[in-house]
Amino acid sequence: MDGIVIIGAGESGTRAAFALREAGYCGSITLVGAEPHLPYERPPLSKTINGAQMKLICAADALEAAGITYLKGLSASTINTAAGAVGLSDGRVLRYEKLLLATGARPRRLTCPGAARALDFRTHADAEAIFSGIAPGQSVAIIGAGLIGMELASVLRGKDVAVSVIEAALRPLGRAVPARFAEKLHTRHAAEGVRFHLDRGVAAISDDGVTLTDGSVVHADLIVGAIGVLPDIALAEASGLATGNGVLTDNCLRTSAPNIFAAGDCAAVAQPGGGYIRYESWRNARTQAETAARNMVGAAETFNTLPWFWSDQYDLGLQVAGLPQPTHQIVLRPATEGELEFYLDDGRLVAAAGLGVGNGLARDIKLAEMLIATDISPEPGDLANPAVNLKTLLKSARAA
Ligand SMILES: Cc1cc2nc3c(=O)[nH]c(=O)nc-3n(C[C@H](O)[C@H](O)[C@H](O)COP(=O)(O)OP(=O)(O)OC[C@H]3O[C@@H](n4cnc5c(N)ncnc54)[C@H](O)[C@@H]3O)c2cc1C
Repeated sequence: MDGIVIIGAGESGTRAAFALREAGYCGSITLVGAEPHLPYERPPLSKTINGAQMKLICAADALEAAGITYLKGLSASTINTAAGAVGLSDGRVLRYEKLLLATGARPRRLTCPGAARALDFRTHADAEAIFSGIAPGQSVAIIGAGLIGMELASVLRGKDVAVSVIEAALRPLGRAVPARFAEKLHTRHAAEGVRFHLDRGVAAISDDGVTLTDGSVVHADLIVGAIGVLPDIALAEASGLATGNGVLTDNCLRTSAPNIFAAGDCAAVAQPGGGYIRYESWRNARTQAETAARNMVGAAETFNTLPWFWSDQYDLGLQVAGLPQPTHQIVLRPATEGELEFYLDDGRLVAAAGLGVGNGLARDIKLAEMLIATDISPEPGDLANPAVNLKTLLKSARAA
């Protein structure tokens, strides 16, 4: 038996390795990771003042106890799909019976003159470079007002660092965050002293700082590029697998090559209505890993888990379940800890989001996820009324 090889030891690859054992797989499992550490969590990097502290996904003895061979600091450089073999950066060749691509994503890079002066923010090494390169009273320019850029802004303000955020769009957080919550977070950042340069491109980066397309200069001691990520598909492409905005898979997470699966930030999964969706979130990396692992050992599960992500900025916690769309009817529901929004598509509950202090809305979002799973078309008035208990709504939806 050649066993199972997993390329990429991030959230998805590591979770898949353990999920294979949980699914009863007894053959050999080899996890290949390009980074020089034990597998670690990325979300804490942008959440705490000690972001450069490493939170491990698992300890070395957990890998050993599960019989997972972890090859760290090594890259898979070739896949021979016909021979079922992976070539590693140290010249070794691993044979596989089944292969999982969990290569994740890498930062999108700026292309302006001086772009190399901007630091990335994806890995523990990136976090170390940022947090060790800046002290209270100094200044940072963050290019990109997405979730990662805005989380970094809130952490740096907590360290008394002056923060400027440069964004090409008219508003921050426009891509993934529902509009009202994006606006509230924007207001909070401004109140915390973050200076925004919206609707501005970057013309050049120099020792002085960032020159914007309107000619103005944002002076900064350190510059971070946070303009999104691109799926890491180079290896898949070179191996002849079908790719697009990710490694293309069917709804069981199988790629176009026999015995090769993909999961996590690198995977673009076929949708029932056509097209492919790629998610960039922690829970997705884990749930796809679990589905892929079960399918690699004989199941035929379709991946249809509701997307969910969270973000922490200052003392505020944001959670979004499902994919809110501008076409959805929005129902607002006040809560003691913050506010909830429910999204109805033709009357059917399809998504929910909450913004509140800390983790205070987590229980409501969990209940909303369960309500969505019942395929309910609730009365908007019930959802809007905080006196109507979501648990009661769930009970009656399940009974119906
Ligand atoms: C700073 C930060 C904060 C985040 N915060 C949140 C959050 O609050 N909420 C949320 O839902 N999500 C968050 N995310 C996103 C979440 O962490 C990712 O969606 C998740 O880590 C994806 O896991 P992955 O395993 O698919 O990919 P990755 O974590 O990118 O792991 C892929 C691994 O594969 C390795 N690799 C690539 N190619 C090869 C190769 N050829 N050979 C060997 N190894 C290879 C890479 O080096 C990498 O270690 C955050 C991400 C970052 C960067």
